[in-house]
Amino acid sequence: MNLDSGESYPHETERRTRTRLIHGVGRSRKWDYDHHVVPPISSSATFRLDSARRGAQAFVEFAHLGPDGEQAPIYIYDRLDEPTRGMLEENLAVAERAETAVCFASGMAAVSAALGVLAWSGHHIVAHRTLYGCTYSLMTRWLPRNGVQTSFVDLTEPGGLRAAVTPETRVVYFETPVNPDMQLIDIAAVRREVDAINARRGATERVWIIVDNTFASPFCQRPLTLGADVVVESLTKGIGGFGTDVGGVVAGPRNLRDPLMMYRKDFGGSLSPKAAWSALVYGLPSLGARMANYQKTAHHLARFLETHPKVEYVRYPGLNHFPQFELARRQMVDEDGRFSPGSMIYFALKQKSPTDNPGERLIDWIAQNSYCITLAVSLGQIKTLIECPYSMTHAAMPEEQKAADGLVPGGVRLSVGLEDWKDLIVELTEALEHV
Ligand SMILES: *Cc1c(COP(=O)(O)O)cnc(C)c1O
Repeated sequence: MNLDSGESYPHETERRTRTRLIHGVGRSRKWDYDHHVVPPISSSATFRLDSARRGAQAFVEFAHLGPDGEQAPIYIYDRLDEPTRGMLEENLAVAERAETAVCFASGMAAVSAALGVLAWSGHHIVAHRTLYGCTYSLMTRWLPRNGVQTSFVDLTEPGGLRAAVTPETRVVYFETPVNPDMQLIDIAAVRREVDAINARRGATERVWIIVDNTFASPFCQRPLTLGADVVVESLTKGIGGFGTDVGGVVAGPRNLRDPLMMYRKDFGGSLSPKAAWSALVYGLPSLGARMANYQKTAHHLARFLETHPKVEYVRYPGLNHFPQFELARRQMVDEDGRFSPGSMIYFALKQKSPTDNPGERLIDWIAQNSYCITLAVSLGQIKTLIECPYSMTHAAMPEEQKAADGLVPGGVRLSVGLEDWKDLIVELTEALEHV
């Protein structure tokens, strides 16, 4: 095998992503592991350099992609680049259909890096008004200190974006499905609006579309193929899948690789090789099998909740009466075009009085009595997790904004795992009896 040739195995690129994520990028320039069945894990903070000249060359080549893409890298120091993480990045690029992927120490480190390389002092971001709590906090607490302002708008409304864009806008940022209310944002429609805006701008003033794909995972939706420029994702969730490690990734066009690598080097949020290895050998290879099963169970649970007398409403994109069902069918599909509405359900319990908090009562009962439903934040794991976004993950959002987005005290977010769905229904039934 010739590492420098960068050739893939015959037919590798013709295989489906589900297969490719199990076997990985066969001939990696990152590491020659032709005789390992499982990719090796590296653990070396620093790397031996053969000569001063080679050391100098390493620094010159770092974060400078050549015209033919990346050469076999000369590793210097873990924070800059290292092989296990590099192999994971190659596989994440396959999963997201991206030209490149750069991994970070957490999903939030990835979100900060994507925003950090595209927007700086004087620039402006337009974001959907409901966001993961820490992303909202980043945009309201920290970015303004660096001179970056964010306008929060409803991107599900046509025209919402155009009204908020200023000459300084550089980024449109959103999640779809939105965490936690499961609203969808039409990526192709945002693309059309941004194309119309960019048509009147020079290359350095263009607006970029960043999509947080954490809720769907690349199995259910590939935003880059629908018109997004950049995808950010928490590896801690569906991709990691087992809940053992924290990580994040930014995937996008080749010309963002150098700035992202440089940003990671200087801000220091590099993914540890041990965390990268878990995602590389357990998380990504099992994503297809896990997601196919999560979805089947999610469908059973959503149907059960929908008919339960104590439930006000259920938001699951796979249900026929999901308010944006048409869009869901168009946007959330697996690689073969099969509808893939994902593993996340949001539902609201009926309030008995205006001060009643049935969500808290449900999850408190579950926390004390449930065997297979766990009260915990995070999502996409093999274990079913439940939480109350109103008072937990989305506590940072202002009250009026929560109300506008259906974030009510009775709201419950369910991340469906791999348990037998009948057991989950038994435990939900019992829990609902105690609300
Ligand atoms: C969890 C999450 C993040 C942040 O990821 P971490 O790995 O926890 O830093 C960002 N976006 C969404 C939608 C998330 O659910």
